[in-house]
Amino acid sequence: MKHLALAVALAAIGDTHALPPVMQCALNPAAFEPMPQPAPNDWLANHQESGQTFDAFVRSQPNRPTPQRRTIYLQPLGKFDLGPLKEFSEAFFMMPVVVRAPLDLTKAQITSRNNPYSGQRQLLTSDILAFLHRELPPDAFCMLGITTIDLYPDPSWNFVFGQAALRDRVGVYSFARYADGSNLLFRRSCKVIAHETSHVFGIEHCIYFRCVVNGSNHLAEADARPMHLCPVDLRKLQWSVGFDVIERYRRLRDVCQRAGFTDEARWCEREIARCAKS
Ligand SMILES: [Zn+2]
Ligand SMILES: [Zn+2]
Repeated sequence: MKHLALAVALAAIGDTHALPPVMQCALNPAAFEPMPQPAPNDWLANHQESGQTFDAFVRSQPNRPTPQRRTIYLQPLGKFDLGPLKEFSEAFFMMPVVVRAPLDLTKAQITSRNNPYSGQRQLLTSDILAFLHRELPPDAFCMLGITTIDLYPDPSWNFVFGQAALRDRVGVYSFARYADGSNLLFRRSCKVIAHETSHVFGIEHCIYFRCVVNGSNHLAEADARPMHLCPVDLRKLQWSVGFDVIERYRRLRDVCQRAGFTDEARWCEREIARCAKS
């Protein structure tokens, strides 16, 4: 890593001296890939983002799970299996994840339309967010609507991949435009859940390392993102949830192995080997 980039990354991670040795090891920037120069079409070439350091994150008084409010709810809008996504999310956030019964869209009075250009059926996100907010269980850290139907945020828009109301701790994400073979679809779904739920924790886009919380402007850029957190954002999530970082990597490794994400499984394994004995 270049000298200046390393200094910026170290400042973003913050002072780790008081942390246990295993966390110090897990946050060592030398083990992570720095953010490459963006191509002209990429997120960082088109969005002025200054980055959110760990200290700035803590100062922002972000949403944080409490003993009474630490379950992530997934609400399928329609009938499909969210079992594997639940397993991934549990390992990623180290919090209980509950999949709710599929929602009957007509009973829930969700406005829909056929897209004026493509004719594709689409659901109105504001109706879904309002529904999720009304239904938010008392022990919910957040509730995320998941659908395979396309979404639109407003009649003047063509479509949207997803939308969140962070203060209300609800969001809705469509996988309709991700379908491309089941493993790739699942891989993209896992990244969307990891990325979007990180925002609910108050974690902003990452500019320091290659990281699942990097912004993305197009599908190729989203696909190039890794599935894991960089040291800056790993520190934020660990501060929020309080998990054992090695235990988390073990669970993620197992889930990634089962899903056929061999690169990510290997990455977890390497981190375990590097830090477990610290
Ligand atoms: Zn984002
Ligand atoms: Zn990051």
